Amino acid sequence: MTTSLQGPAVAHSGDSDTRGIDSQSRPGAEGQVRDNGPSRAGVPAFRNLIGGRWVDVADGPTFENRNPARWDEVLGVFPRSTAADVELAVASARRGFESWRNVPAPKRGEILRRSGDLLTARKDEIAERMTREMGKVLAETRGDVQEAIDTAYYAATEGRRLFSNTVPSELPRKWAMAFRRPVGVAAIVTPWNFPLAVPSWKIYPALLCGNAVVWKPAEETPETAAVFCEILLEAGVHPEAVNLVFGYGEEAGQPLVESPGIDVISFTGSTGVGREIGARAGRQLKGVSLELGGKNGQLVLDDADLELALEGVLWGAFGTTGQRCTATSRLLLQDGIHDGFLAELERRAAALRLGDGLDPRSQVGPIINEKQRHSIHGYVAVGREEGAELRLGGELPDAPDLAGGWFYPPTILAGVRPGMRVEQEEIFGPVLSVIRVRDFEEGVQVLNDTQYGLSSSVYTRDVARAFEAMERIEAGITYVNSPTIGAEAHLPFGGVKNTGNGHREGGWAPYTFFSEEKTVYVDYSGRLQKAQIDTHE
Ligand code: NAP
Ligand code: MG
Repeated sequence: MTTSLQGPAVAHSGDSDTRGIDSQSRPGAEGQVRDNGPSRAGVPAFRNLIGGRWVDVADGPTFENRNPARWDEVLGVFPRSTAADVELAVASARRGFESWRNVPAPKRGEILRRSGDLLTARKDEIAERMTREMGKVLAETRGDVQEAIDTAYYAATEGRRLFSNTVPSELPRKWAMAFRRPVGVAAIVTPWNFPLAVPSWKIYPALLCGNAVVWKPAEETPETAAVFCEILLEAGVHPEAVNLVFGYGEEAGQPLVESPGIDVISFTGSTGVGREIGARAGRQLKGVSLELGGKNGQLVLDDADLELALEGVLWGAFGTTGQRCTATSRLLLQDGIHDGFLAELERRAAALRLGDGLDPRSQVGPIINEKQRHSIHGYVAVGREEGAELRLGGELPDAPDLAGGWFYPPTILAGVRPGMRVEQEEIFGPVLSVIRVRDFEEGVQVLNDTQYGLSSSVYTRDVARAFEAMERIEAGITYVNSPTIGAEAHLPFGGVKNTGNGHREGGWAPYTFFSEEKTVYVDYSGRLQKAQIDTHE
């Protein structure tokens, strides 16, 4: 099925473009420049996607999308939407909901499967664009796309399930059953660190269940969002069922979650913003799924396979430059192995190659922006003031090839004690706090003693200890003998305590969030039968 997709970057001044573009045109393709934008020549200008059309915003302000590895590279300009634009998108989604909900779920699944095929065909291209706009190395952005593909294929199969229960009635000649209906219009608000994977965890289940969506992606990764929506439409999702509004959190995200036309909200981001969204949703009695911050720890016991544990922490702490909600930001080393492990870790972390994620030799890409790098650097200073010992990194790199981006080296703070800010607060960068623990008991206690509870990891060869850790660690995810990162698309993902509000993404759980069960009783006995009363006479 072809779509009525309109090019987001076609050059026409002032209109809400309704002209078609050929199917080869891509959002932001070179040479497609809106001539009324403030961007320099050659920089693609993007628009919101509302009802299958790429439309200009009401009053015209824009923001730039830049490459964090080369900050003077402007990748595109995007509309800074406000409440009026959000309302257009919500109105479109309300119409989209009425048509999309009537497509049979197996058919919706087929359409989403096709979008998985399209993502597969464009995987390398999308990964490259993603690396350019948010920095992580190509192997990881490919993984990000793959996670969306996996999620698409999972969604496709769910179209032929969407189970609810039919159970025996307590009364004769009576049926009792439940079935799933969509909730309505979903607001999707997402962060920049997984520009495709995280949105796909929300958008696929929402659409499969028959909802329409309005998506406000992170301002740092708008281009990936444009490409994903383009693919959804190309696959055959109804044009008004997918709406995309670019802009800032306060200006576009907030009116979106507060809009009376929104029935359900799915948010991933910081705990501070999530708490606010949750409070507002509560007042409006809207369903809200919140996936928030983490302060994940890896515990290495004396009996562990140390080589495995070393590889694990290098990947968990410095992969994605530490900018994962599941990043390993605390390393708990048992007394007996502490010194030797730390020395070897230092040696290997020092050898990690910092650089542009597009360069296949790079292992650690840049930080997302200057503000975040400043914050990370500030935390290293805080750690030192608190008495931690800086063992590695902690300085802005001075290599000329890194000067144009927001690079920050793998950093290790040792001698960190429980309760220090660097041990408690999410840093969201390549900074690892190393804590010495006496034994397993102290390890579990320190792991658990934070406001967050997303991921965790324990390295041991003792199977009893591993099972005890599984049961006692207060986290949504525990890895045994592997790092704190590495979630798979078909298992529940989410955290306890201040990491969220009890919902899970991945696997089946989001299908229950994006649908509501209706219960139906069919009494064909031809007489009034009273539950609880007739049965106990
Ligand atoms: P963020 O600042 O909370 O932003 C997340 C999203 O919310 C962005 O799209 C943002 O827009 C928007 N937003 C900001 N203020 C808003 C408001 N008042 N109303 C509505 N929307 C608003 O988080 P981030 O810095 O992008 O991402 C990093 C955080 O996400 C970390 O805490 C990390 O742990 C967490 N995270 C959690 C998970 C998980 O599954 N648990 C996964 C990934 C990331 P702008 O981009 O315009 O600010
Ligand atoms: Mg960017």
